Amino acid sequence: MLCLFFCAANALAEENIQSDGINYSQKINIRLTPNEQAWLKKTKKVTVAVKDGWMPIEFDLEGNHHQGLSIDYLNRLEKLLNINFTLVNYTENIQPGQADIISAVSNYNLKNPDYHLIPQPFLTFPYAIYTHKNIGSNKKITSLEDLNNLNVAIFKNGPVIQEIHKNYPKIKLVYVDIADEAFEKLKAGAVVAYIGNEMIVDYNIIVNRLDFVEKSAFTPFTSTVSMAVRKDLPELASILDKGLIALGQNNKDIIDKWKITDRADNPITTLLLSSLLIIFSFVLFRFYRLKQKIKKQKAETQKQIWYQANYDHLTKLPNRYLLQNRLQQSIKKADRSKLLIGILFIDLDNFKKVNDKSGHSIGDKLLIEAAERIGNCVRTVDTTARFGGDEFIVILNDMKELSSLESTCQSILNKLEQPFSIDNDEYYVTASIGITTYPNDGHQAEALLSYADQAMFEAKKLGRNRFQFFTQSIQAALLNKLAITGDIREAFLQKQFVLYYQPIVDLKNPTIIKAEALVRWNHPVRGVINPVEFIPLMEETGLISELGNWVFSQALRDLALIKENSNAEFQLSINVSPYQFNKPADLLKWAETIKELGIPQHSLTIEITEGLLLEPSNAVINTISTLKKVGVEFSIDDFGTGYSALAYLKKFDIDYVKIDRSFIHNLEPLNYDAVLCEAIIEMAHKLGIKIIAEGIETVLQKELLTQFECDYGQGFLFAEPEPLSELLKRLKPELILLVRGMASH
Ligand code: C2E
Ligand code: CA
Ligand code: CA
Repeated sequence: MLCLFFCAANALAEENIQSDGINYSQKINIRLTPNEQAWLKKTKKVTVAVKDGWMPIEFDLEGNHHQGLSIDYLNRLEKLLNINFTLVNYTENIQPGQADIISAVSNYNLKNPDYHLIPQPFLTFPYAIYTHKNIGSNKKITSLEDLNNLNVAIFKNGPVIQEIHKNYPKIKLVYVDIADEAFEKLKAGAVVAYIGNEMIVDYNIIVNRLDFVEKSAFTPFTSTVSMAVRKDLPELASILDKGLIALGQNNKDIIDKWKITDRADNPITTLLLSSLLIIFSFVLFRFYRLKQKIKKQKAETQKQIWYQANYDHLTKLPNRYLLQNRLQQSIKKADRSKLLIGILFIDLDNFKKVNDKSGHSIGDKLLIEAAERIGNCVRTVDTTARFGGDEFIVILNDMKELSSLESTCQSILNKLEQPFSIDNDEYYVTASIGITTYPNDGHQAEALLSYADQAMFEAKKLGRNRFQFFTQSIQAALLNKLAITGDIREAFLQKQFVLYYQPIVDLKNPTIIKAEALVRWNHPVRGVINPVEFIPLMEETGLISELGNWVFSQALRDLALIKENSNAEFQLSINVSPYQFNKPADLLKWAETIKELGIPQHSLTIEITEGLLLEPSNAVINTISTLKKVGVEFSIDDFGTGYSALAYLKKFDIDYVKIDRSFIHNLEPLNYDAVLCEAIIEMAHKLGIKIIAEGIETVLQKELLTQFECDYGQGFLFAEPEPLSELLKRLKPELILLVRGMASH
């Protein structure tokens, strides 16, 4: 009698439907050993790793709320065992430090040695054979034997593959990565059937409205789903085991909630019900009401799930999945009517600023209102969808001419540039719109959307608050971009990047005492490519950090050579993109390296742009100060093109400011740019910041800047960016005065 009787049913009122739509009416008793009870008592928190895309087992449509069969099991276990689960996101290589339980693993995947304690499986489903309602109907499929010599789709890495190979070797299996692919193949007639797990496939058929798919037969194979518990928590495993046995496999209440298909009631239940009707009509009445309630809630849940899968919860517009669907339908319709479709890719300008400055709640309200304004500019036959963030897509059906597309775009632009009144304040945004048309620009939905996206990008580049049609030249730029992106990986492997150096001259005492490292790409086919062509792509793809790390180490190697062969005080500057600060760990490692190698103070300058310092994160501030501590200096590049707040820069202990070459270009005695340059130089000096003038091309420019007491100069007048060997030649003392423009005139 060591076992204590543990009854959690008291907490569960009879015939009580909880908010999750599950009937807790049965009394459930489980027995826990004192050991298990003690464990439960001392354990404050149990963490559970759950997956987010395994419908309907467990999934997360909104990014903050897991739901599904396993989640309902967890909820019921919490009540039953009086335990508290904390959900965390499951990852492929989850560590025991991150979660105590993995909520759902299939019997064919029970391989994680860290989580090898497996309680009683809570779900078990048969594998079924799904076919196309129309195609291949000449032969009825009633069992796996009927699939001999036919192409049949099956999930790659799927559990039953081995079994089918062994027992039905004549079936020609076609492996698919995701269920969608199987449905596509089924639709196209490339396979006659798809073998999949009943619960999951049935669910997908309804949610994705795959009306053409039908379930023809069952296979003898089943798959089970279990929880998996950390190997060092045997008490937890046995507690769950008891709880899950008590709840039962495929618990009817839970399964019913997630089963979308409406099956006819079991005849036995019906018979039972009718006898009950005669004997206990009042009981039946209560039962009936209960059933109605459950049925209603079930229908509600199903509707909700479908809605969540297809609509954006914020703006209530179709989401990108439904959009794809609608676009495909529009294309089919246009093929019949021979009319055009216009696809507008709308991106709000300035939205990020509003969102960051005024908070997400204002941002959300602005998006809702923007969605409404866009919707008011189009007809009911058109589709307005939210593509993500501040991006919207409009599909304009049955267009006769391009000019009406233009007028719709113009009215959307006009509506969006009106002020948005939110919580007693006014906010302003505009929009950039990219346009593609079907069938002119392309035939595939995916491609049309991506072209519209490119055109939108072009509209942004051309100054925003405008629309732009997709053109051949945009296409060419896109292809170029794709080609370059593809080559970048290879470039690292083949060591195709090189550093060029452009000398920086001390204007007071004409000598070369610094140089800026400027990267070049020696492309095997295209020749030398300048950084403006590939740096933005690398910033987009995140490869910039890799390039930056290479630039850093190459510059250190070159610096050692320069110091050895000429001036030990020589300084190199390297450009660091703001995107590199997204990976502060890399930059902090630079500081370590500098310390380890004993690089003298002031040997290295890092050029950054003002934008980085405008609203800097702690990570940015910390990274800069760590690098400053090991003697790295900082320089503001392209000064004058951004916010140009000198005093603000002082806060960050900036050493140099580089006046952008656009100001130097127009320098003439007493003109506006001259006055501006002189003022910047004077003010910077007062703040203890030194000035480098970029892009000096003429002697006049050099002389004016010298007169303004500018500290350093850089530009084609002195030298263009050149390989290290050229720079080394220049640094030979006997040659130094021969550098162009440096001897006094
Ligand atoms: P930047 O930092 O403003 O570099 C100066 C650019 O001006 C260089 O272009 C240089 O060749 C050019 N230039 C120098 N003197 C003159 C002149 O007298 N007249 C004119 N018209 N131009 C002059 P480049 O080498 O094509 O580099 C372009 C930009 O690419 C750089 O602008 C910099 O922002 C970026 N970049 C270059 N190397 C790197 C790198 O290693 N990392 C990162 N993140 N960016 C880099
Ligand atoms: Ca620079
Ligand atoms: Ca610059």
